[in-house]
Amino acid sequence: MIDRFGRRHVYLRLAITDYCNLSCTYCKPGGATGSGSKRASMMSAGTIERLVRVCAGLGVKKVRITGGEPTVRPDLLEIARRIAGIPGIETLALTTNGVHLAGLAAPLRKAGLEKLNVSLDSLRPERFKAITGSDRLEAVLLGIDAALAAGFAPLKVNVVVMRGVNDDEILEFVALGRHRAINVRFIEYMPFRENGWSREGLVPYEEMLARISRKYPAEPIGSGERTGGVAKDFAIEGHLGRVSFITPISDTFCERCNRLRITADGRLKTCLFAPAGVDLAAAMEGGSTEEELSLLIRSTLEQKPERHPEAEDLRDHQDQPMNTIGG
Ligand code: SAM
Repeated sequence: MIDRFGRRHVYLRLAITDYCNLSCTYCKPGGATGSGSKRASMMSAGTIERLVRVCAGLGVKKVRITGGEPTVRPDLLEIARRIAGIPGIETLALTTNGVHLAGLAAPLRKAGLEKLNVSLDSLRPERFKAITGSDRLEAVLLGIDAALAAGFAPLKVNVVVMRGVNDDEILEFVALGRHRAINVRFIEYMPFRENGWSREGLVPYEEMLARISRKYPAEPIGSGERTGGVAKDFAIEGHLGRVSFITPISDTFCERCNRLRITADGRLKTCLFAPAGVDLAAAMEGGSTEEELSLLIRSTLEQKPERHPEAEDLRDHQDQPMNTIGG
């Protein structure tokens, strides 16, 4: 799957639900209310497996399960096992808010999951509640312990940094990796439909790095560029874990984008910020063969834009909130 700009697509991010048990202010339209997102139609485990099989046939090698919150699906382990067993899929990853992780980390590992990202934006209970609408911080921290014990190393912890909200915790997050194999990844706050983004709320990567470097000597290490990753990685002197930055705003990585996305309702997206394209789930319901599905995917890929618009214009280009796409 090589697009018009020579980018080879080997990485599929698959939302298996748009329901989330948290309601993070920056992710879900309407902000943190504590009630979670509305539950919408979800693809069955069988539909998901078939779709991934078609994508694997087209060259996809890595799948990340996301959402919504993927761990709210009772059949998550079955989905993981099915995807891990598909020939051609070399890496199975999952992104979670960690609330249900304590009981799931070891079974997920057994089901074939290799890489795990936990999203966590504050280490302070009251702030965690203000951002997520939930008081489950303790459960997330236990989930992180369980994931490390289950052998997910390095364990990635994703932090969306927002000025005036949690940017005063950057150094506390760096300290998480002092004695543990935790790779803390600071993500630039991105605009999404109705998420209240403003440029003032963004803490650009250079600023985050400067703030960290004042306390912790940080050494750049070969970033994921060669392996198709998008993070800028740093070793911190004396720390077991690394620190990374994801810079979708201050330093875009569109030219190396190797990703496709399938939304919770089964539509293909070629760019996080592009409108959802062809409805693959509907095509399957309509009886499309695997060959027809492959053709649909390829022709949608032809439309993939060269790059996403500038930050200020991004919201106008979106037809969906983040929780239905999966980040
Ligand atoms: N529920 C899971 C979780 O919390 O990790 C998976 C879905 S969540 C949409 C995936 C990732 O997107 C999370 O790490 C979240 O922090 C990130 N995200 C959501 N909205 C964002 C925004 N406006 N800017 C940057 N990252 C965002």
